[in-house]
Amino acid sequence: MSQAASNSCNDQFKIARERMVAQQLRPFGITDERVLAAMRKIPRHLFVEEALWDQAYGDFPLPIGYGQTISQPYIVALMTQELGLKGDEKVLEIGTGSGYQAALLGELARSVFSVERVSALLARARKILDKLNYSNIYLKLDDGTWGWKDEAPFDAIIVTAGSPAAPQPLLDQLKDPGVLIIPVGDEYSQTLVKIIKSNGELYHENKGAVRFVRLIGNHGWSS
Ligand code: SAH
Repeated sequence: MSQAASNSCNDQFKIARERMVAQQLRPFGITDERVLAAMRKIPRHLFVEEALWDQAYGDFPLPIGYGQTISQPYIVALMTQELGLKGDEKVLEIGTGSGYQAALLGELARSVFSVERVSALLARARKILDKLNYSNIYLKLDDGTWGWKDEAPFDAIIVTAGSPAAPQPLLDQLKDPGVLIIPVGDEYSQTLVKIIKSNGELYHENKGAVRFVRLIGNHGWSS
């Protein structure tokens, strides 16, 4: 692509991101200005294959291969906003997928640790996150239902796949105070559950119905 064509393409994506924030996020209760600024900045299209670039800012999930999906922008924004990040946190993500959610966390927190079980997805995410110069994001190939014990505890944990229940290792690796967000339910529909750890107690809040791919692992679905 010529430089001029590439510049005009980048302008188009920038406009698409502005529109996404103005039409799909802000009017639907995404008010955290740091989250909105980061989503305005991150080139989401680079996290999907080129044939899907023109759909990357639409209000729907997109396939990323291996039967997995990148969540719709609103759900990414909602889950991230619920973590209430201020900038100094150590965050754990389970389900790196495309790496887009990790990039967003990388903009908003001090450090991000993200675990993925599909090696091809992890390799692709690593490539794009390196290209975008994120030096505070660490990736690992593993069953994330075990968490990341060597790096625990975490101020915030986000699980981007649906599970029958919150995996115990993740609850154990959550700091006090800390917050964990996870889709909990059956294989077809889940409730977004926010779990707050405070003074040794766990508090559950429901944040609405969602549909995620399965969290597959020892403390998730068996297959
Ligand atoms: N957060 C991702 C989207 C995740 S899709 C993004 O921004 O693109 C859910 C991901 O969770 C898939 O990539 C899937 O392979 C992964 N996954 C499922 N079970 C897992 C497990 N036990 N440990 C780690 N990753 C898992």
